[in-house]
Amino acid sequence: MKKHESDAKIVLNRLGKLSSFLKDLDSEAGNDECFNYPLEIIQKTMMFDISVLYKVSNIIDNRLILEVVKVLDPKNSRLDLREGRKLRLFMDARDKRYVNEVNAFINKNVSCINVPGMGCDVMGYVYFPRDCGGAYLFGGDFFGKESSVKDFEVSTVEIMCNFLSTILLKTQFKQQAEYDSLTGLYNSRKIKEELGRVLKRFERKPSLSASIAMGDIDFFKKINDTYGHIQGDLVLKEVGSILSMSMREYFDMAGRYGGEEFLLILDEIEGERAVQLVERIREKIETTRFARVDKFGKIIENQFLNITISFGVAHLDNGSEKGLSVRGSSDIEILTDCIGRADNALYTSKQKGRNQTTLFKEIK
Ligand code: GH3
Ligand code: MG
Ligand code: MG
Repeated sequence: MKKHESDAKIVLNRLGKLSSFLKDLDSEAGNDECFNYPLEIIQKTMMFDISVLYKVSNIIDNRLILEVVKVLDPKNSRLDLREGRKLRLFMDARDKRYVNEVNAFINKNVSCINVPGMGCDVMGYVYFPRDCGGAYLFGGDFFGKESSVKDFEVSTVEIMCNFLSTILLKTQFKQQAEYDSLTGLYNSRKIKEELGRVLKRFERKPSLSASIAMGDIDFFKKINDTYGHIQGDLVLKEVGSILSMSMREYFDMAGRYGGEEFLLILDEIEGERAVQLVERIREKIETTRFARVDKFGKIIENQFLNITISFGVAHLDNGSEKGLSVRGSSDIEILTDCIGRADNALYTSKQKGRNQTTLFKEIK
């Protein structure tokens, strides 16, 4: 077989792998590592030394701002290209060092004019609708040799960039379907789904137990009324990051259940212990100084807000005395009952003066 024929076979084979990866993406999406595999395939197919995925994070006064989303650099040769790093490229001067990057963005195609410099040898535009977060660019780099990219290689990169577009779209849709955009926590649908999953496990393994906590910010309406909705949103966002940071150490999952209500799942933790852990989060929120913003969202220096939160905790297990019986009820009944118990305990916390945690106890 002639060399270029076998090259073409390898390329087709790898494209096939990439496309089968797309089919299985549902299980992979949402995972931070979901770009590793496609980038690796592209890198191997094209024999690049480095592959990079950039997000076009902004365009300011003819400067193109790229943010490094993912890098595959097995030889550790470009330590400057770490994930999260931003590059500022000048579009009007067609920045000579990064000419391929700028051209790929402007012309929305694959660019591989060979100009020695810091940029990548081949750049491809990754199509992404604007209302889904802007464009992405894919870059591949050969080291130590001048790139002389052939036509068929350009076409291959073009096809691969289309695959990447699909992967990005799928990831984005999944993200939107599962996460609350303000707090970054699971949204209400997803946290309930996760709770359903925990409860389902009880049926198979009756010895398991878990706790849930429902939290509700105290006098939140007053924050909105006094300081405006932007301030209210900022408080929600900060409470979201406190909860995210406490995750793993104190509990397993957190979601924004409603406006200023949060649902936490403490898997395999019984009620009394859950109360102790939730109390630490409550204290953390009580002692945090929340940033103050004006009605335009601008930070007001040296001014802070204090807020408190009330919690209700419910212990869930498969039919013990104080727990919840999951036998003989429908999934939705069980779920509603669990949340109802936590809600009930939360109501007690509010009644008793707020800024406290109550454990649900069945009235006999
Ligand atoms: P309590 O201590 O009894 O919980 O009092 P509260 O004021 O926190 O409770 P209430 O349910 O009366 O008010 C909740 C407020 O939360 C009303 C609503 O406008 C506000 N809210 C809900 N979602 C959002 C949001 O996304 N952003 C902002 N800024 N406010 C929100
Ligand atoms: Mg409320
Ligand atoms: Mg409230």
